[in-house]
Order: sequence, then structure tokens, then C-alpha cells
Amino acid sequence: MQTREVVVIGAGPSGAIASALLKRQGHDVLVLERQHFPRFSIGESLLTHCLDFVEEAGMLPAVEAAGFQFKNGAAFSWGERYTDFDFGDKFGHGRDSTFQVQRASFDKLLADQAALQGVAIRYGESVIAADFSGAQAALRVQREDGSEYEVSAQFVLDGSGYGRVLPRLLDLDTPSAFPNRCAVFTHIEDRIDDPDFDRNKILITIHPEHRGVWYWLIPFSNGRCSLGVVAEESFYRDQPAELQACLQKLASEPPMLARLLKNAVWDTPVNRQAGYSANVKALHGRNFALLGNAAEFLDPVFSSGVTIAMHSASLAAGLVHRQLGGEQIDWDSAFSTPLMRGVNTFRAYVEGWYDGSFQNVIFQSERNNEIKKMICAILAGYAWNADNPFVAEAKRRLRVVSELCALA
Ligand code: FAD
Repeated sequence: MQTREVVVIGAGPSGAIASALLKRQGHDVLVLERQHFPRFSIGESLLTHCLDFVEEAGMLPAVEAAGFQFKNGAAFSWGERYTDFDFGDKFGHGRDSTFQVQRASFDKLLADQAALQGVAIRYGESVIAADFSGAQAALRVQREDGSEYEVSAQFVLDGSGYGRVLPRLLDLDTPSAFPNRCAVFTHIEDRIDDPDFDRNKILITIHPEHRGVWYWLIPFSNGRCSLGVVAEESFYRDQPAELQACLQKLASEPPMLARLLKNAVWDTPVNRQAGYSANVKALHGRNFALLGNAAEFLDPVFSSGVTIAMHSASLAAGLVHRQLGGEQIDWDSAFSTPLMRGVNTFRAYVEGWYDGSFQNVIFQSERNNEIKKMICAILAGYAWNADNPFVAEAKRRLRVVSELCALA
């Protein structure tokens, strides 16, 4: 049996950041990654807050030098309505810009940065079983040739994303409160010639008739865009079964999106991902903690996934360091509670998005600059900043403001 101090499952953003942070504190870290990088992942629009963790892990210069598309905000369109949020105009502290990234390159860059800092990463190795009953955690690992071995560790961090390794193996999965939604998406050569189109922002478009159906358009730095549509599974029953035909038809329905994409070259296979919202009974247990998507994934609408993944990685790495140093850690109060504060802020706005109330607030927010700034801070990822009234009392504020918007 091999023995390591910490094993991290998965080399995505949560695994790369957590492993680098632990290595920087002098720990022996092994990352086990099922795939080989670069590999495709969805989730290409970053929030500014996630760069705080990239910086903490010593990776910011490399990310800044990589030539990713600069991003300074988010824009929303619905029919002929258009509004945008500039991260420079947000409430409170924090960065004003971030990037829109092809995740294949971004995730490889982070993992390579972790490796450069001394983290051992084994690609093509899957964790297939876990035992936390002993003093040390024991993981069974399968190589691509089918051979298996065991590794023990004092602590395991699960950053396996949609693989949800420990929730599956330890029966921690619990259904999400959100309905089953499905995303259909691709990359296009966009050929957008509208001089007013702002490539520095993600464009979120609401379907003209179905307010629960929305699209993302995420420009990259190479003349290409990520394009996707999100709707409840049942909505697709009346759409073309072939995925490209389905996405092309739906993308032609909102007038602004249709105008922008009139010259687009559809050169990449269209994909779908369904049932991605997930939840767990517990975020930690004896000698393990769950990071990022391996724990809970809400919804893609506010691009919060990578930020939550990195936030959890940073919190967990600090606590693992203290625990390995002999401290007794109360993981509920030191990890789950503070992490869930931000997750629950995003949850309130995701719920408000789909019941229409937050959509109303977004399109009416031009009327009140203070409210706009507070919402902008959340869209930038600062969902943990309790100084922001729209964080501290997310549900109540959203209800009151949306009622005022309805009156207006
Ligand atoms: P991942 O990035 O999924 O990495 C997990 C890694 O673990 C993978 O490389 C995988 O190969 C590996 N793994 C899995 N199983 C095993 C195993 N058994 N053994 C070893 N390794 C294993 N987020 C954003 O921030 N912005 C967006 O714009 C955005 N858009 C999204 C759109 C959609 C439709 C969806 C569904 C999600 C979107 N997200 C977005 C969320 C984002 O994709 C995730 O939150 C993010 O990738 C989570 O990072 P992670 O490190 O937790 O997991």
C-alpha cells in the first residue's frame, strides 16, 4: 500500500487549487485524475472572485499571460431589452475583471502550475473505492490498463466534479431541489460584426416567450464563442431531436441573438448535459471533505461553479493544513457553514431567476444605482461578503425589490 499525506481526487479547478495550496504549506500531495489533460469541460465564464484563489495558489501570473478573453461584466437581453453590469461598478471590495476561458486550456494550465509547484499528478487513474473506517483513509485506484492499487492518506479531498466519487461511494448523494434541466451547447466561429457587441462580457439571453429558457454566449479571444441553451428536460420534447438542429432553431428565436449569430460558422459537434444539479447529505466526514461540484452544483446561470469550487478548495486546504498540524477542527463550523453562506446566496438568486423575480430586478436595476451595484457584486462572485445587504438578506431583499419592480 502506498502512503501519502493528502490525496486529491480530480485535477479540475478545485483539485488543482487545493493541491497547490497544500503543497505550498509543505504537505505531500498526490492528485489522481481519471482523464488526460487537456480535456473538455463546460463552465467557461469565470467570475472575478475566483482569481483571488488563483492568486492565493500562486498561479495568477500564468493565467494572466495565457491570452484568455478579458471579461469585465455580464450582459442580459430579453426581447429588445438589454442591460449590462460592469464589475468596476460593484458594491464593496474585489477585482474588476476576470477571463472567459476554454476550459481545456485553463484547467491544464492550473494543473500544470500545481505540478510545477511540486504536486504529484497521476493522469489516467480513477478512484474506484474508498474506505474511511481506519485511522487512515484508503483508496482503491484503477489504471487505464485495468490494474489496481491502494493508496492510504491522512486526508482525502474529493474534487471529482460530476464524477461525484465520494458522494457515490459513501452514499452521500441527495436530490437537488431544482428541477431536471438540460443544457445543449457548442463552440462556434461567431463572425459577429455588430460594432456594439461587447466581447468582454458574457451575454445571457432570455427566450422571448419562455422565461425559464435562457442562452449563454461567451466570447473567447480567438473569434470563437461558447453558445448554449438551458431549459427543463420536458421543453426539448417539442424541439428537433438532432442536437445541432435543436440549438440552431432555439438560437434563432431571440431577436438579438439571431442578429448576432447570423454569420456564425457551426463547425463543432453540439453536446448536451442533463441532470447536473446535485446535492449531498454532508460536505465532510472522517478524514475527507468534498470540493466544488463533487458536493453541490446549483445551476449554470450565474457562472458560479468554478468560483464555488475554488472557494471550497481554499477553505478546505487551510483546514487540512491545521488538522495535519494536530489541531482539532470542527468541519461544520469552519467549512460547511462558511462555504454554504455564499452557495445559499447564489441559490436565492437562481431561484429568483427561474421564478422571474430576479429577471425583473435585473432589467429594472438601471433605475437604482445602489441596488445595481449590490447585485453586480454578486454577479462578480462576492456572494460571501455579508457587508452587502443583497448577500446578508438575499431572499428578503430580492422579494422586496422585485415587488417594487412589479409596481413600477
Ligand atoms: P471538474 O472541473 O468537473 O473536475 C473534476 C475532475 O475530476 C475531472 O477532470 C474528472 O476527470 C476527474 N474525475 C472524475 N471522476 C474521477 C475519478 N473516479 N477518479 C479520478 N478523477 C476523477 N461554472 C463557471 O464557473 N462558469 C460557467 O460559465 C459555467 N457554466 C456551466 C454550464 C453548464 C451547462 C454546467 C452544467 C456547468 C457550468 N459551470 C460553470 C460549472 C462548472 O462546470 C463546474 O462548477 C466546475 O467545472 C467545477 O470544478 P471542479 O473542480 O469541482 O470539477
